[in-house]
Amino acid sequence: METLLIACDFDGTITQRDTLHLIVEEFGTRGLWDTIEPRLRSGEVTLEEAMQEEFATVRATPDQVIALVLREAGIRPGLAELVRWSRAEGHRFIVFSSGFRTVIQAALDHWGLGDLEVVSHEALFSGEGCTLVWSDRGEACVECGRRCKRHDLRGRLRGERLVYIGDGVSDRCGAGMADVVFARAHLARDLTEAGVGFVPFEDFVEVREWLQASQARAA
Ligand SMILES: [Mg+2]
Ligand SMILES: [Zn+2]
Repeated sequence: METLLIACDFDGTITQRDTLHLIVEEFGTRGLWDTIEPRLRSGEVTLEEAMQEEFATVRATPDQVIALVLREAGIRPGLAELVRWSRAEGHRFIVFSSGFRTVIQAALDHWGLGDLEVVSHEALFSGEGCTLVWSDRGEACVECGRRCKRHDLRGRLRGERLVYIGDGVSDRCGAGMADVVFARAHLARDLTEAGVGFVPFEDFVEVREWLQASQARAA
């Protein structure tokens, strides 16, 4: 049997709502992104600089941020069962996020999934403003020009088949590397436009059932 590396995005994929968006809306300067975005689009600032500018206005302690996320983010159904099934079958399940470890770890702990491997950036929250700490993603990606998830994925693949589960712009390059892609929302529209095949999903029950059926067919 072929083993899988199941790579799963966090915000909007594991969670129902994007935690970065929740945090900025609640504790940052609302509408600030609208003034930053034109400069991002014109290339005046990088995505990392734009995000740092936005998060600098986020004034909240880690406890306040975590309380908000646990209250508002919501988990997409079936994740615990998918993780349990993956482990029983000898597959690996890793979370690849462009978000922040403090937030992701607290949420996963809360949902009883604190032992999942997580690859992400970090944010240092305080009442005086938030500082982002970017993980090292090597050279800029040749596909998207950014330091995207491709580098992290490459570093963790051990010759398994790659399954990618995601919803957003930051998932595009990871999805491009995968043997099977589960996509929803922006990523699904993006792949449709590009004529790239994917399996649509709205929860992890569907993902597990699809993978189980595909494994049964291959056996
Ligand atoms: Mg996402
Ligand atoms: Zn890329």
